[in-house]
Amino acid sequence: MTGHLTDAQRDARDLARDFAAGEIAPHAADWNARGHVPVDLLRRMGELGLLTPAIPEEYGGPGLDATSLCLIVEEIARADAGVAVAVAVQNGLVGAPLLRAGTEEQRRRWLPELASGRMMGCYALTEADAGSDTAALSTRARPDGGGWRITGAKQWISNGGFADLFVVFARTGGEGARGVSAFITPRAEGLEVGAEIPKMGLHTSSTVGLSFDEVLVTGDAMLGAEGEGLKLALATLDGGRITVAAQACGIAQASLDLAVRYAGERNAFGGPIGRFQGVQFPIADVAAQLDAARLLTLHAAGLRDSGQPHGAAGAKAKLFASSVAVRAADVAVQTLGGYGYSAEYGAERLYRDAKITEIYEGTSQIQRLVIARDLLGDAAR
Ligand SMILES: Cc1cc2nc3c(=O)[nH]c(=O)nc-3n(C[C@H](O)[C@H](O)[C@H](O)COP(=O)(O)OP(=O)(O)OC[C@H]3O[C@@H](n4cnc5c(N)ncnc54)[C@H](O)[C@@H]3O)c2cc1C
Repeated sequence: MTGHLTDAQRDARDLARDFAAGEIAPHAADWNARGHVPVDLLRRMGELGLLTPAIPEEYGGPGLDATSLCLIVEEIARADAGVAVAVAVQNGLVGAPLLRAGTEEQRRRWLPELASGRMMGCYALTEADAGSDTAALSTRARPDGGGWRITGAKQWISNGGFADLFVVFARTGGEGARGVSAFITPRAEGLEVGAEIPKMGLHTSSTVGLSFDEVLVTGDAMLGAEGEGLKLALATLDGGRITVAAQACGIAQASLDLAVRYAGERNAFGGPIGRFQGVQFPIADVAAQLDAARLLTLHAAGLRDSGQPHGAAGAKAKLFASSVAVRAADVAVQTLGGYGYSAEYGAERLYRDAKITEIYEGTSQIQRLVIARDLLGDAAR
């Protein structure tokens, strides 16, 4: 389903596929069982250009397009969804807002560090009482000398346990969306990283709370204009959702691979279970749905690559691909029967990992809101 790719896009996909098959897949079960976050591997991916594919060459990255980024994230997620999160965050949630709103000085200072993997980044928007309702965030930044002091707490921050660089959204003005500004800051005094949050899946991904206690950031840490932070946060998520859709495609592909292999190997009633229609049809449905999910994802990435609006297309891709990932993982577990429920074959890990794609970077309900607002405009508000 990817016949229209350019040579450069195919090369990116193949590099990621080989790397994932050789360096990630053989360790994924063990890392997940131990809750090991492979930070060294991530830094090595920086050296190979797999960590921040879309950072332009002038800032030390490989300068690939959004389509290549999706292909890379899909291949990595096929081997391990948690490692794919780190790539998606570093690139889409930290590199992308820097490219979009950063000053030339900010870009030159931070992007080469992110591209090389010398620094790992995280994106801190969500709070305990502000998830879907991002405008309700209460972390504050108050002017102090030439800089700002940030106080508040963030929740569910991917990469947060090992991050060196933090994109943080804090209130610099009144209530509501217009009072929020974005900052980019390295670790600083008063910034405390919480313990890893125990979670259903994604055990190779770091997810923590962050607490800011009068953290002093310099005046040049503001990312974009004062009061424009929430706009930047949401524009960032427009692109980020496309990579979550790609991650979902990777989980679905891994599920399909597993179900197909097992259906050919497992014998019951005198032959392989793959000869039963009850086993064939769910697999066939997932194969068709996955092709559709991938096409939606690459369509949204293509719009982004050609500079066209891609918010609704990205929401449709994430909404559909995430549901396919959940369905595909369910089919994998069911096809493997009791072995699907055991940790031995990895189907249960796919089942646990798939669910998050329906939740983060906007739940499926929020994707439907984005799509409806695109169609109905003010009538949907
Ligand atoms: C593993 C993990 C990693 C994450 N990583 C990050 C990260 O790196 N950075 C970051 O900032 N955040 C991150 N998040 C946060 C994530 O984006 C939020 O959890 C998500 O947006 C949902 O917010 P919430 O949990 O507060 O749910 P809520 O907003 O409280 O939603 C609860 C339920 O209500 C529904 N709902 C809410 N509002 C509406 C509405 N208007 N219409 C219909 N239904 C509605 C939701 O769909 C959901 O079903 C992460 C979360 C997890 C679990």
